[in-house]
Amino acid sequence: MSRFAPAPTGYLHLGHVVSCLYVFGLTRALGGQVLVRIEDHDRTRARPEFDEAIREDLAWLGLIPDRSPWKGLGEFDPALRQSHRADVHAARLADLARGGLVYRCDCPRSSMTPGNDGELFHQGYCQSRKIPDDVPHGLRIPMPDRDITFHDLIAGPQSQNPFRQTGDLLARDRHGCFTYHFSCAVDDLDQGVNLVIRGRDLLASTGRQLALRELLSAPGSPVFCHHDLLVDETGRKLGKRFLSTSIRKMRLDGGTPESILGLAAFLARKTQHQGPLDLPSALDSFMR
Ligand SMILES: [Zn+2]
Repeated sequence: MSRFAPAPTGYLHLGHVVSCLYVFGLTRALGGQVLVRIEDHDRTRARPEFDEAIREDLAWLGLIPDRSPWKGLGEFDPALRQSHRADVHAARLADLARGGLVYRCDCPRSSMTPGNDGELFHQGYCQSRKIPDDVPHGLRIPMPDRDITFHDLIAGPQSQNPFRQTGDLLARDRHGCFTYHFSCAVDDLDQGVNLVIRGRDLLASTGRQLALRELLSAPGSPVFCHHDLLVDETGRKLGKRFLSTSIRKMRLDGGTPESILGLAAFLARKTQHQGPLDLPSALDSFMR
């Protein structure tokens, strides 16, 4: 079981299509199933109109998952929308708190320094401060100061020390929203995801996911596969301006599913020449 897990904070763009082609292509080639999970854990940024647009764009492209949080696109499962699982996330965090694995933190973002993969570094000093419950606070989980190793299907053998990377992990922010890393680890575990295919920009956070799974008493770990991100001719990551051209806009400008799938395959360097591709050919190109 693998997943495509977009956040409904904007329209799908070509980077999402590339990610989908990796997820659907590789998973189906291995005989597995794909679920779509809407990662609307950040209630301050998620928008229902983007949630609905993701459903429409996937269906228009012919990317039909086996399970989704929408009726009419694969098997319907409302729990595949993270906002429906706040109680589950809260219960898991409470379990960890009972085991002494959660502490309160009121550090403003401005007081923290960047960690080595762009996230903020929290050294753990709030652990001994015993911040009262009535002070606005987030909840953190101590990360292990040891190397965690895993084999990535594309990137090869990896070794990461979660604590030295970003310190202790924020599981719930001061607004009560569960963070990406925490909700993602809980959901992957509960939803039986055993193949995680996602962009190379998330490779550095995999050790944190594995450390969380250990704390959540997960049996085993998924296989990870971190694919390359879209780059321009000089090898630089495509800029936000290009990626902000949504599939929706391309549709309105006369794009067809085949033209968009062909462009995604070309930009991901899966095809030599830019031209329309039907879905089976596009999926096939991502297996090479
Ligand atoms: Zn703190």
